[in-house]
Amino acid sequence: MKMSNLFVQTLRDFPSDAEVMSHKLLVRAGYIRKLTNGIYNYLPLMQRVLTKVEKITREEMDKAGAQELLMPFVQPEELWRQSGRWEVYGKELMRLKDRHDRSMCLGPTHEEVITSVAREGIKSYKQLPVNLYQIQSKFRDEIRPRFGLLRGREFIMKDAYSFDADEKGLEISYQKMADAYKKIFERCGLETKMVQSDSGAIGGNVSHEFMVICDNENNAGENDVFYCEHCDYAANSNHAISNLPEAKTDGGYDKAEIIDTPDTATIEDLCKFLNIPPTIILKSLLYIADKKPVLALIRADKEVEETKLMNAVGANEIRIATSPEIEELMTEKGFDSVKGFIGPNGMEGIKIVADKTILDLKNFVVGINQKDKHMVGANFGTDVKLPEIIEDIRLVEAGEFCPQCGMPLKVQRGIEVGNIFQLGTKYSSKMNAVFTDADGVEKPFIMGCYGIGITRTAAAAVERHHDEYGIKWPKSIAPYLVTVVPVNTLDETQMKIANEIYEKLLSAGVEVVIDDRDERAGVKFKDADLIGFPFRITVGKTITEGFVEFKERSTGEMIKLTPDEAVAKIIDEAKNI
Ligand code: ATP
Ligand code: MG
Repeated sequence: MKMSNLFVQTLRDFPSDAEVMSHKLLVRAGYIRKLTNGIYNYLPLMQRVLTKVEKITREEMDKAGAQELLMPFVQPEELWRQSGRWEVYGKELMRLKDRHDRSMCLGPTHEEVITSVAREGIKSYKQLPVNLYQIQSKFRDEIRPRFGLLRGREFIMKDAYSFDADEKGLEISYQKMADAYKKIFERCGLETKMVQSDSGAIGGNVSHEFMVICDNENNAGENDVFYCEHCDYAANSNHAISNLPEAKTDGGYDKAEIIDTPDTATIEDLCKFLNIPPTIILKSLLYIADKKPVLALIRADKEVEETKLMNAVGANEIRIATSPEIEELMTEKGFDSVKGFIGPNGMEGIKIVADKTILDLKNFVVGINQKDKHMVGANFGTDVKLPEIIEDIRLVEAGEFCPQCGMPLKVQRGIEVGNIFQLGTKYSSKMNAVFTDADGVEKPFIMGCYGIGITRTAAAAVERHHDEYGIKWPKSIAPYLVTVVPVNTLDETQMKIANEIYEKLLSAGVEVVIDDRDERAGVKFKDADLIGFPFRITVGKTITEGFVEFKERSTGEMIKLTPDEAVAKIIDEAKNI
């Protein structure tokens, strides 16, 4: 490809709306252009990268025994009613009507469609196991599309679905996908951590995410990953558990009494006022889960993990209540209280979920729904009713101890590039997708589903591989492997040698660009670094001595080679991708 023909416009500056490096660089280097919020054009350079990520994905999926198909992007409401998700899938599901007033949606994922495909196509256990996958655009009306391709509204996903006759089969299918995913990301130049995760709205039991760990400086990672350096424990914060260090949990008060605690609406103020540690306080937090109030109780030095709480009450949406909502509830219950002073007593009719940390509390301090007052020396049973639901709803913190081996946990931010779920019969039972088993009995398929964000993976590669000058693509997914740069296009020898190198590489099947533009060398070098070609062969003045300059983008290393050596080296590199 001649640079003069390549459809690419690099920009001098980063786009003003971009927060993270992959977004900034992909726009500035001419890979993507925003069409509208969360929706991007993938320009020719980007399309080449995406095609490579897809090719790697296809190869590994096929090797793992999966078969590619392509399902419709537009789906009828009726199917989503069968699975029960039409009501529960929130606003991310883009719903629309066709000309006959029939209700449809844009596919955010394809469990419903694939289950209907299996329902029609698979009748007997003899046809199992099957794993079907597609690579396709998805649409999710994300509440906060951001970070360019990392969280778009329209994005490309590889989604696969496995069908097995029993749980054991599912475990095998699942493991195959876990292995394939590891290889896919490795081949894309990405080291990933496989972490335990919450199965969320998609349902099911066991699930893992593949995380690209990011340095915190850039904040592109939207997930906190807790992991142990001494064993293989790793989990998303929405699923992580830990052992806590010893703490004082007995308040030591000799009797329960209500005392004045003016201006102590925060735990910090209360601790200061009473001169106590937060570990002897029972914290009460009001949440709104699927529009209903839920009171969460936890030891006050710890935070609630909202996904865990949401799962504990079986809700689809959760958020902390606002001050007016708290006051409204207080009034409804006949209390004169505000945020900071609420507590579990007198909250009959409201779902109360307590974290396990409350079980250690003795003679503790608790809000009693009276402004500027608390009870001290409270105990469960006598002063406060022990809640019926006691589960782990606690957010893990770094330094707490690994649940597997007891060593301190670490935390890092991660970008989720893929995830795998053991769905079980969640969709097949609801949608009556059954097969006849060896014993002649009709059973629902045991399913798994497996996603990879193709566009997100490409963006994650930029997050991991860049410097202040631009992108440093891993060779396997670079749009072109090498650029040949004649320093002075008016110099006949330079142009001749550059063209010869270019032609030789082309005929060897190497993906190569020649920067034939009549531009200053500095401009060409800047563009080469920005676009991120893994190699640059510069033909300049030293050609009179028989040498070109060979530069590797990832290391910055520059060496002198003869033109033939440079060609041979690139052909060698191309072979080893
Ligand atoms: P997230 O928690 O990041 O929203 P998810 O749990 O909704 O992800 P899945 O529904 O399992 O993700 O989708 C499978 C994969 O698709 C994800 O692992 C991710 O790589 C990708 N993906 C999901 N949402 C987006 C998005 N808005 N933009 C780009 N890629 C996405
Ligand atoms: Mg999502």
